[in-house]
Amino acid sequence: MSTKCLLWWIKMDLLNYKLHELTSLIRKKALSVKELCQFYMDRIEKYNSELNAVLTINPDILQTAENIDKNLNQYKDLPLLGIPILLKDVFCTKGIRTTAGSKILENFISPYSAEVVRRLEKAGAVILGKCNQDEFAMGNSNKNSAFGPVYNPWNKKYVPGGSSGGSAAAVAAGLCAASMGTDTGGSVRQPASFCNLVGVKPTYGRVSRYGMIAYASSLDQAGPMTMCVEDSALILESISGKDEKDSTSSIKEVPKWLHNCQSQNIKNMKIGFLNKEEANTSCSPEVVQSLEQVKTLLQSKGALVEDVSVPIMNMSVPVYYLISTSEASSNLARYDGVRYGYRSDFQNKKPDHLEEFYSQTRKEGFGSEVKRRIIMGTYCLSSGYYDEYYNKASQIRRIIRDHFVKIFSKYSLLIAPVSLSTAFSLEENPAGTLESYLIDSFTVSANLAGLPALSVPACFSSANQLPIGVQLIASHFDEQTLFNTALLIQEELKAVGKRPSYLV
Ligand code: GLN
Repeated sequence: MSTKCLLWWIKMDLLNYKLHELTSLIRKKALSVKELCQFYMDRIEKYNSELNAVLTINPDILQTAENIDKNLNQYKDLPLLGIPILLKDVFCTKGIRTTAGSKILENFISPYSAEVVRRLEKAGAVILGKCNQDEFAMGNSNKNSAFGPVYNPWNKKYVPGGSSGGSAAAVAAGLCAASMGTDTGGSVRQPASFCNLVGVKPTYGRVSRYGMIAYASSLDQAGPMTMCVEDSALILESISGKDEKDSTSSIKEVPKWLHNCQSQNIKNMKIGFLNKEEANTSCSPEVVQSLEQVKTLLQSKGALVEDVSVPIMNMSVPVYYLISTSEASSNLARYDGVRYGYRSDFQNKKPDHLEEFYSQTRKEGFGSEVKRRIIMGTYCLSSGYYDEYYNKASQIRRIIRDHFVKIFSKYSLLIAPVSLSTAFSLEENPAGTLESYLIDSFTVSANLAGLPALSVPACFSSANQLPIGVQLIASHFDEQTLFNTALLIQEELKAVGKRPSYLV
């Protein structure tokens, strides 16, 4: 094949490369960073109007890319050399607006970048832009955004999941090489499952939260959303580790996850399957079937599989919503129109009191789901109710955590559904209904317990052809077992890596 022909072929195939293959093409100068960025920008131009996944493009992207191309020797050993990444709009980015999906931050430009962003750039990645999301990361549909809903690239009548729905839709549609989301109660894993991606919520403390707009600080963690297991391992490796600016970040050494990633030899490995009946709700038959498929696979490879009971599981959703809304009500108190963000326009007539100024600004700036949660959280924390709600929820949270720790003294891995069903249609599960909160039944426990968890594509629904992922949960700081087992599932079930046909 002539060089020209080879280059043409590489470019036609860009969507099918893993991140480490892309970096090696760049290193060999078979592909420039600028060409790669332009490739994704063209796709954003072509597809974003129908998906609404990307909110802002980094205005300096091509210049940054050119700079790397010009000084390739200086950067060539970086693990994410030239990889264009989109960020959920909850990561502060110096010089690029950060909205958190809210009108209240519509024109906010942060004076500094989040630690995750700094580390991605230090590893050679280029920030392509920012993704749509549920407002302040509250939701599981991406319908709660001040910038309109995101549409699932697999079927635009369906939601992509949330709250990192824009980040998920963007990767699935090939608008970037990989993206970053955040997961407070499932917001990386659930949209990953709905869009056929690998999504990782690391152990609480693995990744710095500095510069990540806070929703519920004791639960929030950043995580990668990618087309395959290896890409997630590589990104997580680049962003993990102690950060002096976040006192909850862990000093634990960061393993070489990608290098050590090999499909797990699971002979005699004890794997638990979470008892689905113990949650307050039930899964669709197809989700149950997908778990059976994974169970059969793991058994055929010699794993010792057992059903595991977590009797307190039915408390996870109420405990999660009491704690997360309480923390949110405190975290979101800063948006008052004085220091940053949207300010109500009193059109030369002065507000009667400072309270009127605050409340008018917050009334106009926040969407209804955010207001609902602030009200609920404020109520839980108010004197007279604190002990009854917040304190009690914190005590049950501890029991849930201890229960999981006990499970992991016996099992290396726990497998559970990600969500109750495949992606649901835009009309289903209106915000604020009990059903909409119960969607998180299987994801919130890992956040409450601080455990690492990963969602990996398993199969497609025969009814609506939408993807279904399964969730792997491991012991604190044991992300390696997640990656290795997910790799086995990737290699054997072969659902990973598929994209909607009109997008390839
Ligand atoms: N769906 C959950 C919520 O609305 C989780 C959100 C998240 O993980 N950011 O709170």
